[in-house]
Amino acid sequence: MPGGTDQTIRPFRWRAERLYPDTEIVSRTHDGIERYDYAEYGNRVARLAHALDDAGIADDARVGTFCWNHHRHFEAYFAVPDSGRQLHTINPLLPDEHIQYIVENAGDQLLFVDPSLVEKLGAAYDPDSFDSVTQFVVMGEDVPETDLDPVVDYESFIGGKDEAYDWPELSQERRAGMCYTSGTTGRPKGVEYTQSMLWSHAMSTISPQGLDIRDTDVVMPVVPMFHVNAWGMPFSTTSAGAKHVYPGPSPTPEDLAHLIESEGVTITAGVPTVWLGLLEYMNDHEVDLSSLEEIVIGGSAAPKSVIERFDDLGVTVLHAWGMTEMSPIGSAARLKSGMESWEADARYEKRATQGLMMPGLEFKVVDDDGEEVPWNGEDFGELLVRGPWVTTEYFERPQANEEDFEHGWLKTGDVVSVDSDGYIKIVDRAKDVIKSGGEWISSVELENTLMAHDGVSEAAVAGVPHEKWQERPVAFVVPAAGTDEERLAAELLDLVAADYPKWWVPDEVVYIERVPKTATGKFSKKDLREEFSDESLV
Ligand code: ADP
Repeated sequence: MPGGTDQTIRPFRWRAERLYPDTEIVSRTHDGIERYDYAEYGNRVARLAHALDDAGIADDARVGTFCWNHHRHFEAYFAVPDSGRQLHTINPLLPDEHIQYIVENAGDQLLFVDPSLVEKLGAAYDPDSFDSVTQFVVMGEDVPETDLDPVVDYESFIGGKDEAYDWPELSQERRAGMCYTSGTTGRPKGVEYTQSMLWSHAMSTISPQGLDIRDTDVVMPVVPMFHVNAWGMPFSTTSAGAKHVYPGPSPTPEDLAHLIESEGVTITAGVPTVWLGLLEYMNDHEVDLSSLEEIVIGGSAAPKSVIERFDDLGVTVLHAWGMTEMSPIGSAARLKSGMESWEADARYEKRATQGLMMPGLEFKVVDDDGEEVPWNGEDFGELLVRGPWVTTEYFERPQANEEDFEHGWLKTGDVVSVDSDGYIKIVDRAKDVIKSGGEWISSVELENTLMAHDGVSEAAVAGVPHEKWQERPVAFVVPAAGTDEERLAAELLDLVAADYPKWWVPDEVVYIERVPKTATGKFSKKDLREEFSDESLV
């Protein structure tokens, strides 16, 4: 092979250990803040690889994790794939029956579990689905009361093992990772990541066109490590030799603020609700964000108002779009050369889009007849993507494979328009778009407009069945504390009417206490519709 070695992630860790041995890895755990450096990290990763061998875990086994973001989870991120095994991150927020299905479908041989999640995993445990599991390892220094068996604590598991390991030469096609989509429709679907998918995703995302991660950065992934590898950040940050900060179990806005201040975080990432929470916390608390350069927001649309508010605080929001099927980052909304001098409004318009496709990927947008739509910012259709870190199949799901892929392209299920500069804008998820009188209304745009109002903490817009129009939009709003609810509804409808056609204006504003969320922290329109299905809304 003229190219030398295959594209595998082992060199990322090798380089960080050798070139940046003193750079820190900081972790908030159940026991407080822990810190060590890449040199010590390398030793512990080697010990973990030995422990897996000694526990009789096959050298190509799937190893599941049921964990938050911390250094031990990060050790598994390299020890498992570098030793030839497959790291299967499991979302602990899923319902029990999904967890059972996922463990059984993946056939995990060993499960790592956080102390605070032992009870949850114990509740989901059933002997048939967990038949493949031969060992449970609790991510701490001791084992809480549990029926999980056999079980050992992590520090005993790796204790006394050799700090050098003879890492195997792996093919770039070797399965290295796995994550299930949260199954907003039907059963979760497994996506496998090969070594070269993880490698190419990291190489593109550290670039200036992507997240622009340098060795001088301090990177804090708030997006969970059980959600598509924390957007690949543990890998990309290691490849750059940058400092890692892991915020641990269920971090609050106060925990995040404290870590940003005390560790000098420069880049962080998470879904919009996390950052709305931090902004709300900052209404009453002094927080020093001076170290922070960039917040990557993705998973759901970043409201323009959030981008503006962080700009006022001197922090740049980078809006990114992606999917479990794409390892996961697909696009990011950086301004092109010359756009920096545009009027503020025009700049915010661009930065609030889902942005430009990452280097290394291709996309097209097609209408119902399969014809590509023009890039005019108005016509829309379904987004199809392909590239080295985009999957071409689901694990053992032939029917979904037929429906969701077409000649090597992934059909994303996202309905988008593309402007003449090539910026993609998500109009809606195909299943959330509201169809009123044969025309489409974008729930995402309405939500962004509503959330720009000071009196709104969160807002979700869903289509509810309507006799005449098939569907009509209804706004479900969580008012901010102290808001005059009498006036709020009228003001919100006026806001929408000012920017959109009359038939886009929601028929009703319903106040709710919280917007139901999916296991990945997104608004669950399905649950909203179900919750209010008995009430006559429009
Ligand atoms: P799920 O939430 O269904 O488990 P994913 O986490 O893979 O699956 O979600 C992918 C979907 O999330 C995308 O197809 C898109 O609809 C939505 N999404 C991701 N990022 C953004 C974004 N920046 N803006 C709007 N929607 C987004």
